[in-house]
Amino acid sequence: MKLYSTNNRDLRVDFPTAVFNSMPLDKGLYMPVDIPRLNQEFIDQIDQYSLPQIAFKVASALLKDAIPATDLKIIIDDAINFDAPVLRLADNDYVLELFHGPSLAFKDFGARFMSRVMGYFLKKNEQMLDVLVATSGDTGGAVALGFLGVENTRVTILYPKGKVSDIQELQLCTNGQNIHAIEVDGTFDDCQHLVKQAFADEELNKKLRLTSANSINIARLIPQTFYYFNAYAQLRQQGKKDIVFVVPSGNFGNIAAGLLAYRMGLPVKQFVAATNVNDTVPRFLETGVYQTRPSVQTYANAMDVGAPSNWVRIMDLFNQDKSALQQVMKGYRFTDEETLEGIDAIYNEFNYVACPHTAIAWLALQEYRMETADQESTGVFLSTAHPCKFPDVFPKEIKANVQVPEQVAVLVKKQKHATAMDTSFESFKSYLLTFC
Ligand SMILES: *Cc1c(COP(=O)(O)O)cnc(C)c1O
Repeated sequence: MKLYSTNNRDLRVDFPTAVFNSMPLDKGLYMPVDIPRLNQEFIDQIDQYSLPQIAFKVASALLKDAIPATDLKIIIDDAINFDAPVLRLADNDYVLELFHGPSLAFKDFGARFMSRVMGYFLKKNEQMLDVLVATSGDTGGAVALGFLGVENTRVTILYPKGKVSDIQELQLCTNGQNIHAIEVDGTFDDCQHLVKQAFADEELNKKLRLTSANSINIARLIPQTFYYFNAYAQLRQQGKKDIVFVVPSGNFGNIAAGLLAYRMGLPVKQFVAATNVNDTVPRFLETGVYQTRPSVQTYANAMDVGAPSNWVRIMDLFNQDKSALQQVMKGYRFTDEETLEGIDAIYNEFNYVACPHTAIAWLALQEYRMETADQESTGVFLSTAHPCKFPDVFPKEIKANVQVPEQVAVLVKKQKHATAMDTSFESFKSYLLTFC
């Protein structure tokens, strides 16, 4: 597999280089030079395959010889070891639940695959890989649980004190082994600033092998294509076609993976990007003008992004052709008030509790149906997280109906461990130097 940079089409790197660099030096993003089309026979029989089997087919086509088949199969069976069921909610409306992994969010797909790929490429006697992550909640849990126990890796997570939910904090602070949590007396931006300073620090880079494992890593994007194919397989089994995927979006990695799957031959009628008031993309789709804005805080906080980092990937997938993109993708935005109304409506009509991000996707599906008068298509909205991760958003009655899954319930009994730290870089640097 060869990859180029979205800032330089002539650049060519191999897959391991792209994985360990995360980002090219020119600050573009890595994209596959060749986007293979899966053969029609496979697509036509896809309903006979399981999720790991589908994942293996898709990954082999993209990665080519980057990882030999037997090794790739082991990586996938280990990483993709939970389901992504499509449930029927009403008429032609379906929910694709992506929260059955260990951190209860779709980011588990990306983080688990990436961690195992990194572990695979790290040769036995190589220097330990130090993964640094700043998190406002969801990313940290997925990365922590993704790397837990992966040999030759050590993860340091920085999170803002008092600003992540209880469950999120438990997911960060109860792992032990190769996972370290730091509770920063500051904001998420302070955490991110500390990580950035570490990457820019000469001494640290000399003594440690640092990587960011962040959401723009190509090894996080690839596994997110798997569940789009798998959702199609489940719906095909039921004789459903004309699929409209509705994706709650922040950095637009999830929907970028859907569009990549589409370019690989997945039959999709329409993509719909659902956002909160951080609506850079819906505004672009409507006006053709792309203008980023500073982010605004909302209930769907994993989507509080004013400048979506994966946007350049999406434009590249469409060769910068705005009108081609506008035909395949629509976008709608919703306020916090509408989000709460959505949560209520889904609960009252279907007895289903949706997290705020998921509720926004459901709202967008309804809006799409209204605007286009399209009632016939099969609408699939992606549920990106389990509602128990966002307990403070729900009214009492709904909250009482949120079941906490076993893998989280057991965390409450575990010992929490985090190192308290101020926001000065000196503190963080001397902490990291104790690893040497
Ligand atoms: C990260 C996240 C999103 C946004 O996904 P992107 O790939 O950044 O668009 C949506 N919902 C939840 C619950 C998330 O954790």
